[in-house]
Amino acid sequence: MRKECQSPGMQVTFLGTNGWYDSSTGNTVSALISVRDYDIILDAGNGIAKADRYITQDKPVFLFLSHFHLDHTEGLHVLVKFRFRKGLTICGGIGTTANLAGLVREPYTVPLDQVPFAVTVTELADGLHELPFRVTCLPLVHPVPCMGYRFEIDGKVVTYCTDTGICENAVTLARDADLLITECGLKPGQKSPDWPHLSPEDAIHIAKAAKARRLALMHFGAEVYKTIAERRALKEQFEAECPGLVVSEDGMTIDV
Ligand SMILES: [Zn+2]
Ligand SMILES: [Zn+2]
Repeated sequence: MRKECQSPGMQVTFLGTNGWYDSSTGNTVSALISVRDYDIILDAGNGIAKADRYITQDKPVFLFLSHFHLDHTEGLHVLVKFRFRKGLTICGGIGTTANLAGLVREPYTVPLDQVPFAVTVTELADGLHELPFRVTCLPLVHPVPCMGYRFEIDGKVVTYCTDTGICENAVTLARDADLLITECGLKPGQKSPDWPHLSPEDAIHIAKAAKARRLALMHFGAEVYKTIAERRALKEQFEAECPGLVVSEDGMTIDV
């Protein structure tokens, strides 16, 4: 019989698993890492609006932005609905402060200094940071500056790499990770050299090169994965090659 553990452990909840735009398959990109002392949100696509279904809002909340494409940031306009009683720290690459000031402002939405909780913006250079948890940031391959993250918290390693083509930095960030979360913008066999994204085979290639223990796919291109069934077929197709493969859907929670 399984005994209740004292520590709540680490869970990842997929809030928005579509790339590019919302459709019947889900919302645009956002995920949540829940650990004992913090709630960590990855990207602020429209899925972020569901974050308060899964968190108490009584822990410090961190939001890591990979880049400023709108499918990763359009949900910033709902921040005003939250009540993050221990405040929000928004982390991103160099230039994040200026980009947020341009995007999260009148007449588009409520500016960050007027939402009902304290907001701090932290720009992260490439490399290792103690935030107080350990985060390593490295740039990925995308038409605009885009950051991948490796989180080391409570003895677990979770790596988040979207949007990107295959690159050495993604492998470095995912080295021996307990969970690698990558995008899956492309269908099996599909290539996109001009606008780098990953097919399932590309994502598996990165996970294997890094010896990551588990791979979770999200950011499914809305135009190429038109139904949830098309996503679920990936599990069947690639499970043998990539044991434990997670094909995410909005609202799915996994233990890490
Ligand atoms: Zn994207
Ligand atoms: Zn992008």
